[in-house]
Order: sequence, then C-alpha cells, then structure tokens
Amino acid sequence: MAAQHQTITLNNGVPMPILGFGVFQVPGEQTEQVVTDALAAGYRLIDTAASYGNEEAVGRAIAASGIPRDELFVTTKMWIQHTGEETARREFDRSLRKLGLDHLDLYLIHQPLGDYYSSWHAMEKLYAEGLIKAIGVSNFYPDRLVDLIQHNDIVPAVNQIETHPFFQRAGYQQLMRERGVQIESWGPFAEGRNDFFTNPVLTAIAAGHDRSVAQVVLRWLVQRDVVVIPKSVRPERMAQNLDVFDFALTGEEMTRIAALDTGASLFFDHHDPGMVAWLGDRRVD
Ligand code: NDP
Repeated sequence: MAAQHQTITLNNGVPMPILGFGVFQVPGEQTEQVVTDALAAGYRLIDTAASYGNEEAVGRAIAASGIPRDELFVTTKMWIQHTGEETARREFDRSLRKLGLDHLDLYLIHQPLGDYYSSWHAMEKLYAEGLIKAIGVSNFYPDRLVDLIQHNDIVPAVNQIETHPFFQRAGYQQLMRERGVQIESWGPFAEGRNDFFTNPVLTAIAAGHDRSVAQVVLRWLVQRDVVVIPKSVRPERMAQNLDVFDFALTGEEMTRIAALDTGASLFFDHHDPGMVAWLGDRRVD
C-alpha cells in the first residue's frame, strides 16, 4: 500500500484515508482538471459539498479516472437549506446523481444549523440501507455534538472542523476520541491567514527537515491522528502535500507547534447570531 493511503478506522470499522483532497473554492470550470490531477497525484479521498457547486465536475473526474470505486473515498455535505427528513433524502439523491455514484463513503451535515436532527434521522436510514458507508457532521462544537450523540442511535463517525496550528482543538479531539468520533481538519493551512506560510516557528521546523511549512503542518496533523484534506489547484503542491509519510516531528517540535494555539477560530464563530443568520440565508442550487 502506498504511504499516502495510510488509513484510520472509523467507529463502524470503515477505513478512511488519513490524508485526502478538498475542493472548496476551486472554480467550477477548473474542478474537473484539478480533481483529475489530484487523483493522478495519488489522492483517494475527495472532499466536496453541495454548497461548493462542483459535485458534477468531481463526478466527471472520478468517472474519467478509471480508478475502481472501492479504492476511492468520496465525501459530500448537506447544506442548511436542505435539512429536514424528506428534504435530506432528496438532497442525498441529488448529490449522488451529480457525483455519478451509487453510494457515498461519507455524508456530512455541513453546519449545526436548521433542522439537522431530522436530517440525521434520514441519514441513519440511508446508512442502514447501505447507501452511505459512514455518516457524520461538520462544524459541530462540543455541546451540539454531545447533544446529537445523546439523543440518536448512531454516533457520528466524523466531525470535520477547522483545525490548524492557530486553532488546534486538542481538548475537543480528546472528547471526540472518548465518544468515538474521528476529528477531520478543514483549513489545515488556515487558507494562508495569519501569515501562516512565513510563521517563524513553522519555517524553522521546516528548514530543519528540509521540508515546506505545508508539509510540516500536514505531518503534525497526521501525527496527531487528525484526518486532513488540504486543497491546492497546483499539481506540484498536490504532490508535495501528499509527501509527508517519510519523516516525523520530534516531541520537542510537536510542543513548539502546540504553543502556537490561540484557541479561537480564524474564520467565524458559530455562536455569533449574525453569522448564524448569514449562513441560514445562504442558498445553494
Ligand atoms: P487550506 O487550509 O487547505 O488552504 C488552501 C490554500 O493553501 C490555497 O490558497 C492553496 O493555494 C494553498 N496551498 C495549498 N498547498 C500549499 C503548499 N504546499 N504551499 C503553499 N500554499 C499551499 O484551505 P481550505 O479551506 O481549502 O481547506 C481544505 C478543505 O477543507 C477544503 O477544500 C474543503 O474540502 C474543506 N473545508 C470544509 C469546510 C467546512 O465547513 N466543512 C470549510 C472550509 C474547508 P493553491 O490552490 O493556489 O495551491
């Protein structure tokens, strides 16, 4: 097995690649080529969402790749406007059709907003019917995650949340581990915010290993057992971002990176009423 196909095992026994590829903010007309390049580079986990508007392009690239379906791990996400039991099932069918697939590997509730309890019931049924290998959530803060676990049959397999050196989620990862929920990082490079790629601590560690800052951070996440899905439209960066399985960070380096944590999001606060309204008003086709 190629190193990049290292997997973790979800709470229902399903293996998931620890390092995959995300397609948020990849322009629609570029997505098919970008995903084709990512698959050629060796990625086998592709992470999209209904709200990214590029599921069809992802599907075309998958179909054209000729890679056997059971070697791929495809994730998509349900947007807030489609929460609800019947709507969720319809939306699942729509995503599956756009992706050109007969099942999904992972289906996520994109945000802890709207009628997501009803969506979860629909997803539990789709899972029982074998149409989804694993079901999970995204952007759930601890209170929402524990409440969902408390009042439903299936424990989410994954919670995909903002996780990077400036917002590390170590305590939350421990809580999720105790509850059987796999942490998956979005925005591993903080999309470059906070002078990410020139941070002095990260650049010093990178120089010591003759690696890039991106590689050090991906290695740091993988070493913490965090699933991660970096995005790049450039083939040389796609290859670079996969190439993190032949070196290791020392305990001392892990501690130096741990000290960069600010404990706060660089993007948005899900407890901000203005943001909740803005997200709730956002419509996707
Ligand atoms: P990332 O933190 O992955 O950052 C992507 C940025 O980093 C791009 O500007 C990219 O530029 C650049 N980059 C990539 N590789 C390198 C490198 N080796 N060296 C220098 N720069 C690099 O941001 P994302 O927000 O895209 O997060 C990753 C994925 O997580 C998304 O694509 C999506 O699948 C998921 N996500 C989920 C969210 C959710 O709410 N569930 C929210 C946000 C993201 P370039 O493309 O030009 O190389």
